[in-house]
Amino acid sequence: MSEKALVLIVDDSPTNLQVLASCVKNCHRIKVATSGEQCLQIAQASPQPDLILLDVEMPGMNGYEVCEQLKASSLTASIPVIFVTALQGDEDERRGLELGAVDYITKPIRPAIVIARVNTHITLKLQRDKLNKMAFYDQLTGLYNRHYLIDVATKKVARSLRHHYDLWVLMIDIDHFKQINDNYGHPMGDDILKKVAEVLVLDNRTEDLAARFGGEEFVVMFDPSDDSDAVIKAQRILKKISKLKPHNISVTVSIGMAKVVAEDGNFEGVLKRADQALYRAKDNGRNRLEIAR
Ligand SMILES: [Mg+2]
Repeated sequence: MSEKALVLIVDDSPTNLQVLASCVKNCHRIKVATSGEQCLQIAQASPQPDLILLDVEMPGMNGYEVCEQLKASSLTASIPVIFVTALQGDEDERRGLELGAVDYITKPIRPAIVIARVNTHITLKLQRDKLNKMAFYDQLTGLYNRHYLIDVATKKVARSLRHHYDLWVLMIDIDHFKQINDNYGHPMGDDILKKVAEVLVLDNRTEDLAARFGGEEFVVMFDPSDDSDAVIKAQRILKKISKLKPHNISVTVSIGMAKVVAEDGNFEGVLKRADQALYRAKDNGRNRLEIAR
């Protein structure tokens, strides 16, 4: 585990908190809560805990109720919960696991057991996070991948058509990328993909979407204040990339852009028009943008 994980320890007894904290604090960062209500608050706030050690018997909300609420909210449902309790019956253990806890530790607290269980479940959690990340992001550039783009873009286009606000799609393709790979080798080609991706990220607002569509092709989506704003943004991207000159190599892109219209019907429709505009940009000499009719 390279980066330290964050463990939230919840117990109404200060002594128990101290004992649990001393078990965990050598390997992980910790936060503490002394009630169920406080636990829910901390669990929702960023940075979110990677694991929660949750006392069952607490005044007010007990641990079972807290766990139920954690699992009911999409914001906190994926945080693993380990119950810590003096109750030892099979029935109690069954109930805890049924509520979605990953494990169950009984009091009196045995540090070796706590450490082992906590570490196991944190390893699993971090592995799962990594897999999720791989499912959404392009590994080379860190941009969203094609799969995620199509998923999100489909929803964005539907929303813009329903609520009648402007949404633009930019299809961006690096010019003569094959020649770059042939002349300088694939590692250099990969590095250039990364540099171009950085420009796209830096030019983005958080609500914009930038994705690697495949190969040397990127898609950017955003809702500008007006059409000229959209063109200015595309021109800025064009210019920034032509000024990059990574490793002294001249790199340019061509951009095809299209505003979502009702006739598009869906993301596929508008993407097709952006792609046609991109072809015109290539035909008309590259390092330029064309707007779909
Ligand atoms: Mg208690």
